[in-house]
Amino acid sequence: MSNRSASNFTRRSFLAQTAAGASLIALHPFSASAAVNQAHLRIMETTDIHVNIYPYDYYADKAVDTVGLARTATLIAGIRAEATNSMLIDNGDFLQGNPMGDYMAYEKGMDGNTVHPAIEAMNVLGVEASTLGNHEFNYGLSFLEKSLTGPKFPIVSANVIKKQGASPRQDQLLLKPYVILDREITDGAGEKHNIRIGLIGFVPPQIMQWDRHNLEGNVTTRDIVSTAAAWVPEIKEKGADLIIALSHSGIGAADHVDGAENASIPLGRIEGIDAILTGHAHLVFPSPTFKDYADVDVAKGTIGGKPAVMGGFWGSHMGLIDLMLERDGTAWRVVSFTTEARPIYLRKPDHSITATVKSDDAILSAVKPEHDATLAYIRRPVGKTTAPLQSYFALVADDPSVQIVSNAQLWYIAQMMQGTQWQDLPLLSAAAPFKAGGRSGPSYYTDVPAGDVAIKNVADLYLYPNTIRAVKVTGAQLKDWLERSAGMFNQITPGKPDQMLLNPNFPSYNFDVIDGVTYQIDVSQPSKYDVDGKTVAPDADRIVNLAYQGKPVDPTMEFVIATNNYRAGGGGSFPGAMGDTVIFEGPDTNRDIIVRYLVENGTINPTADGNWCLAPLPGTSVLFDTGPKAAAYVNDVKGITATPDGTSPDGFARYRIAL
Ligand code: MN
Ligand code: MG
Repeated sequence: MSNRSASNFTRRSFLAQTAAGASLIALHPFSASAAVNQAHLRIMETTDIHVNIYPYDYYADKAVDTVGLARTATLIAGIRAEATNSMLIDNGDFLQGNPMGDYMAYEKGMDGNTVHPAIEAMNVLGVEASTLGNHEFNYGLSFLEKSLTGPKFPIVSANVIKKQGASPRQDQLLLKPYVILDREITDGAGEKHNIRIGLIGFVPPQIMQWDRHNLEGNVTTRDIVSTAAAWVPEIKEKGADLIIALSHSGIGAADHVDGAENASIPLGRIEGIDAILTGHAHLVFPSPTFKDYADVDVAKGTIGGKPAVMGGFWGSHMGLIDLMLERDGTAWRVVSFTTEARPIYLRKPDHSITATVKSDDAILSAVKPEHDATLAYIRRPVGKTTAPLQSYFALVADDPSVQIVSNAQLWYIAQMMQGTQWQDLPLLSAAAPFKAGGRSGPSYYTDVPAGDVAIKNVADLYLYPNTIRAVKVTGAQLKDWLERSAGMFNQITPGKPDQMLLNPNFPSYNFDVIDGVTYQIDVSQPSKYDVDGKTVAPDADRIVNLAYQGKPVDPTMEFVIATNNYRAGGGGSFPGAMGDTVIFEGPDTNRDIIVRYLVENGTINPTADGNWCLAPLPGTSVLFDTGPKAAAYVNDVKGITATPDGTSPDGFARYRIAL
């Protein structure tokens, strides 16, 4: 197996390229300047592909230019065509993360003979090694083991342990910790030499929390940095000329903290590691994102002093580390390097997207059967809903399209809190209606009738690829969070008819409903916050009768709120959600959590529990615009009485609500 891709190192000269009529390739300076006993080695990285092989958004059921290993494959083919010596390594998170992954896990299944499409694509692409990402564990160890019969390349993982020993080198591991690939490399004079490349892989130890139900009692994990420190000397002793870390871990703190999720910087400082492939965080390195990080040099492309890269997730960017190697007696050493992340698309200032490459046909054909099966899968029922999933009244009453998101978030976070110091705190969930008309028009609503639900419908419920978070807040922060949401409404004068209720400048995605408590919104009061979240009426109280289990919420009480990374990280400037209250960062998208909730429960009941309503204002009426199809549901909405009042100038159905 280890000799398989020596053929990747075919030498082609610049002259041969141009003579063949290929477009002019800007050769990397190392290829032009390598002398006798010097060799230019290009290490290409894919990472966090998450089964995105086709450039296709299966949730929206449409082709896109921003994802797909079939596109990254064309960048890879370009490098291979211009480089004397190249290697392709994948950095994990290949088995899960889109409906094709769910189709393979929930519908088709792995039997030990089937090759998973993500792995088939990597086989065809000529991936030379990979490591396990945290998402490889999402469908359980048996599914993973059956999937791992497919790769024609080694997969290394040094810190997932079947039986823990006294030290890392005494552990009995799930996979081999490292591999040394014997390769032939061509120097600047065209001479061939042997080179031995050591590859060692790591996953965040947090898989034990994220996939507790799959892993507890079966495997354990160790800290990334101390595990690396134990193994690297052995890889050197076994004769590796170069050691590359496959770090399925992000770029975080510069100091080594035991058990850190994002440990790539201290990992880079380990003596003997020559280059680092990172991932997991779904960011790109080098990029300005990391310009203020300690022990990171974005201009040089180093972390912990070593050349490093993080390719984009879902195939958006290929990571590339160029090494200039020099042969020093019999050993090779790195004398200089450059690193970059090369995109499959460019985003223009007007936000339009231009693809930089076409898809590689060999990759597309390799997984065409699974692509077609996935299209059928997203379009056919995977569960049932006992009530319509619609959002026509989401801004004026508790609503099924928001309720179902909260139900799924509560289901997930309750599992994640088990065994933590927060397991006994009251658990709430915040969710907002994403499709609720507004500037997107009168047909922009979620509208799935009772009965069958397909994966496509889930995209309708959760538009954004946010990931799950939990925050810990006080009762005072909880109330202010809701005050911030209540900026959705204009201030209404009691006793007057026909006042417009909604503030058109307030986006519906900032109208968080919090489930698990009960409350009313008194729109006769001014909003405490303006549309940007700035405090404008510090003493205002729109939120009234806020209660937990029937008792008033005390400002000093503590709550856990399930939410998403956007909100928890300060998106929308919500009190209690400014980034400093996060207690749990999950790797799963909220959308995947809804799909899992649906698939695992089979039948879901999204009926809103009516935990909030507009406070009564006798003798007052407001006007509310919604989609014309709301007529089918208006008589079922609890907590309000709405009567039709014609059509708005923009084509919305107008309703009069008596408060
Ligand atoms: Mn990932
Ligand atoms: Mg509710």
